[in-house]
Amino acid sequence: MPTPDPSQPFDFYGLPILDRWTVDYPIPHLLVKVNGRDKCPKCPFCGSENVNYHMKKTLTLRDAPFQGRRVTVSVEMSGNQCGKCGRKFMPPRAFQDGRQYRTPRLREWILDHAQEKTHTLVSMTGLGWSTVNGILKQGQQSPASPA
Ligand SMILES: [Zn+2]
Repeated sequence: MPTPDPSQPFDFYGLPILDRWTVDYPIPHLLVKVNGRDKCPKCPFCGSENVNYHMKKTLTLRDAPFQGRRVTVSVEMSGNQCGKCGRKFMPPRAFQDGRQYRTPRLREWILDHAQEKTHTLVSMTGLGWSTVNGILKQGQQSPASPA
């Protein structure tokens, strides 16, 4: 059985945390479930506040390591449909790195730890080798990084 561990603060982009638990074997891992539903969304097309949920979806993302554990976050999402113009849209997702199944802060964490060996980064984050290498390569091409 996973052990609930509510003692330590974990923040996920300010979203309400529904559940969290840790797993110690085979790899220390923190699993978190958050509510990513936008409670009061406005239609981005016509501005109407008459918005209905039209589907439920769970988005599972890798997040930056927390207190030496891998982190996986399940974000409960819902698609929205405007009651006025009928268009469908997703709430904004500041916690997702583009279309990748990871958070922007995980990408930043990898770049901050670029001096570590790749297998260490893979093991600490749960990302694949090619993903880690891709992030490092992109980071090196960024003009903000030293050459
Ligand atoms: Zn609308």
